[in-house]
Amino acid sequence: FDDRKNSFGPNIEIDSDWTPFKAKIDVFMGQDTQWRAFPIVGGEKVETGHTHAVLSPYDHSESAGQIDWADTTIVTKAIDLAEAAFPAWSTRPATERADCLDKMADLMEENYAELMALCHREAGKTIQDSIDEVREAVDFCRYYAQQARSHFANPTSYTDFLGEAKHAKLNGRGVFTCISPWNFPLAIFTGQIVAALVVGNTVVAKPAEQTSLIAFRAIELLHQAGVPGDVLHLLPGDGATVGAPLTSDKRIAGLAFTGSTGTAQLINRTLAARGVAPVPVIAETGGQNAMLVDSTSLPEQVVRDAVRSAFASAGQRCSALRVLFVQEDIADRVIPMIKGAMQEQSVGLPYLHSTDVGPVIDKKAQTMLLEHIEHMTKEAKLIAQSELPSFANKGTYVAPTAFEIASIDQLTDEKFGPILHVVRYKARDLDKIIDTINNSGFGLTLGVHSRNETTCARIASRARVGNLYINRDQVGAVVGVQPFGGQGLSGTGPKAGGPHYLQRFAIEQDL
Ligand code: NAP
Repeated sequence: FDDRKNSFGPNIEIDSDWTPFKAKIDVFMGQDTQWRAFPIVGGEKVETGHTHAVLSPYDHSESAGQIDWADTTIVTKAIDLAEAAFPAWSTRPATERADCLDKMADLMEENYAELMALCHREAGKTIQDSIDEVREAVDFCRYYAQQARSHFANPTSYTDFLGEAKHAKLNGRGVFTCISPWNFPLAIFTGQIVAALVVGNTVVAKPAEQTSLIAFRAIELLHQAGVPGDVLHLLPGDGATVGAPLTSDKRIAGLAFTGSTGTAQLINRTLAARGVAPVPVIAETGGQNAMLVDSTSLPEQVVRDAVRSAFASAGQRCSALRVLFVQEDIADRVIPMIKGAMQEQSVGLPYLHSTDVGPVIDKKAQTMLLEHIEHMTKEAKLIAQSELPSFANKGTYVAPTAFEIASIDQLTDEKFGPILHVVRYKARDLDKIIDTINNSGFGLTLGVHSRNETTCARIASRARVGNLYINRDQVGAVVGVQPFGGQGLSGTGPKAGGPHYLQRFAIEQDL
């Protein structure tokens, strides 16, 4: 597993060779292409009549298609079928299940143009973000397939000095619920599901409301890749109608969740209230991510990495930078450069080459972010705001904005969008700042910019975060190379895309 960069087709980079790829994507970009999606239960599409239109985040007059949502009856039927399918699926050789994942990776590579167009039209993702999305989904499949072949295909044998032998095997646990967010609608959605499946679980999956069309195509491809219809079910719908019964049913044997910390806490309570045996919960949640910059750092690098970490994907990455701490000795150099870099950013239509920042996902997110900007305008000093395009009011755009604030205490919860907060600090306060970051309870990503190795080591040993990035940006973890996941309010671990992930989906059974 070492050719991630070539994970689909030739290595797609947006440069002079980009034209043939774009032409293929454009086939799906016209108004004529409308996707139609449904719950998929037992391999069959179910027309429920609860039909919702999917509008593109960059232009609400453009529809990407329609989706029928599931209801509680369908949820129960899916769990019934998944439970019945478990014995046969879990006893299939792990290598056969891994073959399905490799086939899924191949199918996503073949269908990259449609999947990227869906990323643009349903999720408002830019070209680079759409490439990364498909690439990460492919990488999850290939990596977990390889992990399953190495660790799940054969029993482990233990012998002791008395000559007794013990053999144990990692098996699936039963029906796994997979609940995912809209910000990585293909990669996280697919990653959770294939991890659960390859171990031998059957799966009932609920995508985020906003990105159900992409999820539908992914499930179609997984079935095409050989995953039987009764083993994997798609249940699109809202959290209260579909998510709640998927967590309250006593037959759920484990749950993988990625989303906000609040929803994870709610799900935990629901699972506990079932009054049955506790089950594993793999929760990957929000963050209040910081970057620490000291006076030995290189301002040009700092600005490049801070701006990318805060505003790429319109700040809608769990790893995104929210609070930039700059040592006061260089703050007067760094802050004006951030302003300059933000004035260079192009906010625009996600499918255009020239666009750096696209829209945010929906009206609810836009309203929350605009309210925060309004609040901060009164409470803090505006550093810069990137310009919005003239058509911004057709969709849900939020101008990338940076404020200088006095202290991180001015921030409460995660603001999931393109808003950066900058705090000046004195060198002698560095330890106190790390303690404040730790005390927030979140522990997802932390960036450091320093050329002083002792400082880097000191921060690394003190900070309680899942992913630490030194002298680079802090977004875009790579499967198999940078396992990703947080601590505390940011997640339970194990890290996705890492060597310990699959084990949490499994049970160790003596033979
Ligand atoms: P969210 O509102 O918590 O939703 C996540 C999923 O939970 C959605 O599918 C949602 O359904 C579902 N849900 C809502 N209520 C539920 C309930 N009562 N029972 C079961 N499921 C329920 O999060 P989001 O806005 O989609 O995603 C953004 C958040 O995800 C941010 O906080 C971000 O930091 C976090 N995130 C974390 C990671 C990571 O790796 N740590 C990665 C990506 C995102 P609906 O769509 O119907 O509401």
